[in-house]
Amino acid sequence: MKYRALIPFSGGIDSTAALYLTLTANPNDRFLVFKVNLYNGHSGSRTIMEERAVNAILDELRQMGIHNFTYRRLSFDYSQLGTPPIWDSESVNFAAATCIRAQPEIHEFIEGAIADDFLQPGFDDRISQIEKILYLVSEKNKDNLNIVFPLKDMFKYDVMKAIPNNILKLTWSCRFPVEAEGWDMQRCKKCHTCKVVNAVLEKHGDEFPDMY
Ligand SMILES: [Zn+2]
Repeated sequence: MKYRALIPFSGGIDSTAALYLTLTANPNDRFLVFKVNLYNGHSGSRTIMEERAVNAILDELRQMGIHNFTYRRLSFDYSQLGTPPIWDSESVNFAAATCIRAQPEIHEFIEGAIADDFLQPGFDDRISQIEKILYLVSEKNKDNLNIVFPLKDMFKYDVMKAIPNNILKLTWSCRFPVEAEGWDMQRCKKCHTCKVVNAVLEKHGDEFPDMY
């Protein structure tokens, strides 16, 4: 199987939008969808909720007749190191780059950063760190591996509007899920990603009737 691009996929709103837009815009290409389960101390319930979201979203895509992808996952446990010594995005991209080494025909990497992210202080440094890791570990360069940012001009509202509601409602973006009744988990409504989503829902809640 030959792949055009690797798409890192966490089950969150942004990576779901990057995945959906890329698959539907290029129906004749095939994509490698890649999930890294990170275990880094306090990530346990988040990892479970993301895993649930990923499986539900990929099933929904298949139901919609979208089949131009292969799904692979890998677990990466560094919880014994205590407080994560590196950003999640760095370990995800390290793992993704090893995958690109194994599939050298891959010439695009789909990065799900959105316009809100680029406004955060230090975000450009994080992106440049990710690029360095990606090129070093994949043994590729800018000529044969293009990092694509399909959402870079879209703010959270635009990103949420770009995903059909039946898929959006399956996403999981909260960093610190809290216990809910019936052995379930619900979003904390306090972490950074919850706050960004809250702000959209306060303004445009009626446009996302199935969200939470
Ligand atoms: Zn949260």
